[in-house]
Amino acid sequence: MTALPAGAVIGILGGGQLGRMLASAAARLGFDVHILAPEDDPPAARVAAKHWQAAYEDEDTLTAFARACDAITYEFENIPVASVEFLMEKGAIVRPGAKSLEVSQDRLSEKRFLNSIGIETGHFEAVDSADDLEKALTLLGGEGLLKTRRDGYDGKGQVRLKTGDDLAAAYRAIGDVPAVLEAFVPFEREISVVIARMEDGTTAAFEPSMNDHSGGILRTSIVPCGLGEDIIDRARSLAETLARETGHVGVMALELFVLEDGTLLANEVAPRVHNSGHWTPEACLTGQFEQHIRAVAGWPLGPVTRVFDAEMRNLLGKEALSPPDTYTEDAVLTLYGKREAKAGRKMGHVVWRTGRAS
Ligand code: AMP
Repeated sequence: MTALPAGAVIGILGGGQLGRMLASAAARLGFDVHILAPEDDPPAARVAAKHWQAAYEDEDTLTAFARACDAITYEFENIPVASVEFLMEKGAIVRPGAKSLEVSQDRLSEKRFLNSIGIETGHFEAVDSADDLEKALTLLGGEGLLKTRRDGYDGKGQVRLKTGDDLAAAYRAIGDVPAVLEAFVPFEREISVVIARMEDGTTAAFEPSMNDHSGGILRTSIVPCGLGEDIIDRARSLAETLARETGHVGVMALELFVLEDGTLLANEVAPRVHNSGHWTPEACLTGQFEQHIRAVAGWPLGPVTRVFDAEMRNLLGKEALSPPDTYTEDAVLTLYGKREAKAGRKMGHVVWRTGRAS
């Protein structure tokens, strides 16, 4: 595809904060953004040129959306793969394509895929019934995390288990749906690599951040991540393998557990811009949102050189109603414009520039 000219229309499937920040980055590069999302008045639509309010499966709307947009992308991974394929059949350029979306929608196929391309994960077992769960728990040494294969995010659809727990009740609690039991990984820290890939295969990986989760929700991401060059290089190279093997075009993220001995085990793949990359616009020469739009538009990627040390902190629920004092020269506040500050809901984030990068 030749590069889209400024003024072209980029469509985004999904209306959340990631779409909002993508739309802002796209507007700055001169593009018009159309958001397709079923919600009434979603955060992304309020900074976009147009909101198409419809279900992701609505074929009439998808057909018209394909015609209206010069390129289409998505901002969350639970978009039906069939909708992406439908848009492509209608002649739309959809970036990334369906492969990375499909891989990341199901934890079991994601882990199997990662292993098949040489990216190690922790031990896992498929669980399709309470009986399977009992066998899997024994195979994993009597302790594990039960997660739904689909639709889990921010720690939802997950239960920690050990031998002696009521397994039938645990399986019911996650909804009696296909699941996976993961060994509990005794990680030393968690990191993630946010990487962009262009259609011609060129990649640019941001430096990994160290991520701190609580209750399954990301709280902070910090750079530098405190690890040596060797581990950082290995982490980047795993992300490159992933981007190449999925043929991904755009930004994606690979979340990794770092063990005491330096082993890297993949936790999760996000086929999109990622919360752990929210520090990049403030700390690097190019941020993840601009980078994604560049890849989608067929523009050359920007440099990912990090200029500042940084700490990103999510503002959850009511924290966003009284954000920390960000009227200092080293802090940048972003609020997502969500109408209701529900408990645990990601409402915004702050990035502190904690020093010049060395
Ligand atoms: P997830 O939604 O699967 O990415 O899980 C959210 C967070 O829960 C991770 O970032 C870890 O902090 C923790 N976690 C998830 N799976 C495991 C595991 N198998 N072992 C240890 N911690 C985990």
